[in-house]
Amino acid sequence: MTAVHVPGTPVVEDGRLVSTSPATGAEAGRFPVATAEDVDQAVARARAAGEWWAGLGFTGRRERLLRWRSLLARRIEELAELVHTEGGKPVGDGVVEILTAIEHVDWAARNARRVLGPRRVRTRLILAEFTGHLEYQPYGVIGVIGPWNYPVFTPIGSAAYALAAGNAVVFKPSEYTPAVGQWLVDRFAEVVPEHPVLTAVHGLGDVGAALCRSGVGKVAFTGSTATAKKVMAACAESLTPVLVEAGGKDAMIVDADADLDAAAEACVWGALTNAGQTCIGIERVYAVDQVFDTFVDKVVSRAGRLTVGPDGADIGPITMPAQLDVIRRHIDDAVARGGKAVLGGPEAVQPPYVHPTVLVDVPEDSVAVREETFGPTLTVTRVRDVDEAVERANALSYGLGGSVFGRKRALAVARRLRSGMAAVNSTLTFAGMSTLPFGGVGDSGFGRIHGEDGLREFGRAKSITRRRARSLLPSMTFERTPADVARLVKAAKLMYGRSR
Ligand code: NDP
Repeated sequence: MTAVHVPGTPVVEDGRLVSTSPATGAEAGRFPVATAEDVDQAVARARAAGEWWAGLGFTGRRERLLRWRSLLARRIEELAELVHTEGGKPVGDGVVEILTAIEHVDWAARNARRVLGPRRVRTRLILAEFTGHLEYQPYGVIGVIGPWNYPVFTPIGSAAYALAAGNAVVFKPSEYTPAVGQWLVDRFAEVVPEHPVLTAVHGLGDVGAALCRSGVGKVAFTGSTATAKKVMAACAESLTPVLVEAGGKDAMIVDADADLDAAAEACVWGALTNAGQTCIGIERVYAVDQVFDTFVDKVVSRAGRLTVGPDGADIGPITMPAQLDVIRRHIDDAVARGGKAVLGGPEAVQPPYVHPTVLVDVPEDSVAVREETFGPTLTVTRVRDVDEAVERANALSYGLGGSVFGRKRALAVARRLRSGMAAVNSTLTFAGMSTLPFGGVGDSGFGRIHGEDGLREFGRAKSITRRRARSLLPSMTFERTPADVARLVKAAKLMYGRSR
């Protein structure tokens, strides 16, 4: 760690991780840094706690998770303040984030039994003398590794579903947001004081790596694509399964029949909320020729009105100071290669803040179009028609979310986006719909949090067949006779031999 203290950059002092505000440098908290042995011990304790937790059954867990939900809701202002202090996020954005997370806790708690609980499944003629039984059993302990940009919503998106499924969770918050992570864990301990069912281990990347090697049943990772590869490599050593929620470069498509005011409003929010530090944030727009100029004017006029600064502003500081260099490089490169800043530009980077920047005429192969910027910037590109827009939107290896504005074709266009999610006539909204799975394709990761798929990520399918009658046509036994085999052949032809 660096000796010069840059506000917002975490430092380790006397074995403690010290977290500070990127805006003011004020301390948000300090937490003991875990060693690899500490991580192993935390996982061992969690394993025992997990057995107790699983033993509570769906009803017992639901009741406790709903109490946690209520506590989070009652103390939403306090948590939003802490999110603001530690990461710089405007309090209003913090409230929206926490509200969304609370909704996920609520849904996961209420639906775990229906989705994961034991049930009979239909049998088919071939094994009609058996009944089928299916349930999803917990892994034991889930390791949750989270990023700093949504320090409540993101870990809860995994942890709430993992807990509802009957697992204990060991959570490694980002080194930039340990205070928020610890706060969530402490509130959980208030409603589940008996055992350490949800615990946190703090530190830098090596603590996350230790968690991957600790023997947890599964790792739910949210962070950059580069770190995801390291996580997978560490997990590969012990065949530990991994869920990967990685970065994105989400595109928005504006069709000729779009409501341009609504599109501009949603675009500005989708691109600039949380100072653009959003995995599913809109970073590129493809607007068809007929509406391009009007759309750009509307975006610039709305984005230009936003306030930037510490308390009460629309756009707060960049949480991770090192990211300022990335944002600056993307803007500089775009301008150097012929792009035009119709709002902001290179001078918009004023550490720790970046003012809204809208770039047009940026070449498609520039870093501002191809790489995750993670700042309050946006490229808007003119396209011939929606087909060209889809082609360009799909040209990157990322594929997280996306957005389409339009009327006639919008849903069809959304389906053609190579992404795990898309919003029609809005941006980012799929993240808040707890009934919908959340996750990406390609470099954006694999596996799903949220919704039924999200619950199933945290349970292993357990399949059971149970005999209910004698087999009329024995097949899976050495007792079968040549006559039985002849009957099986006949049955196979009868059942499956037809062309339709
Ligand atoms: P990083 O990949 O840098 O870090 C993510 C987490 O992994 C942190 O807790 C980090 O710890 C930890 N970590 C670092 N190195 C290792 C390692 N070798 N083994 C195990 N864990 C490790 O991502 P950021 O925190 O910078 O988050 C931003 C990224 O997250 C963006 O790319 C964004 O798009 C993505 N993201 C994706 C979301 C999604 O749902 N798809 C949601 C939110 C963000 P430490 O902080 O201590 O280094």
